[in-house]
Amino acid sequence: MNHLSEEQIVLHYYGDAENSGEIERHLAGCSECRAQFEQVQSLLKQIELVEAPEPAAGFEEKTWLNLRQHCCDKPRRCQSTTRGSGSGGRPSGTLADVAGGGNEH
Ligand SMILES: [Zn+2]
Repeated sequence: MNHLSEEQIVLHYYGDAENSGEIERHLAGCSECRAQFEQVQSLLKQIELVEAPEPAAGFEEKTWLNLRQHCCDKPRRCQSTTRGSGSGGRPSGTLADVAGGGNEH
């Protein structure tokens, strides 16, 4: 059997996988996919924290600061991004950045 795709793992995490029995069996026998499942699990838990209606004060701001420090090589672009996002609006890219960031860098 092929290794599990990230999509299958995510679906399994949410209990939405069609063949969850197979996935569970594969996870039980495959340490590689189990490690990936654990990674996805902790990533999704972080995302759930970000999504929580009332995050701890400053949490989102800190997340943004971390992301900016992590992602941007060019301070100029960072500054314009900061101004654009403002204080009221929630930046729509946050979750995608958190979810995809680990793989891209
Ligand atoms: Zn596997």
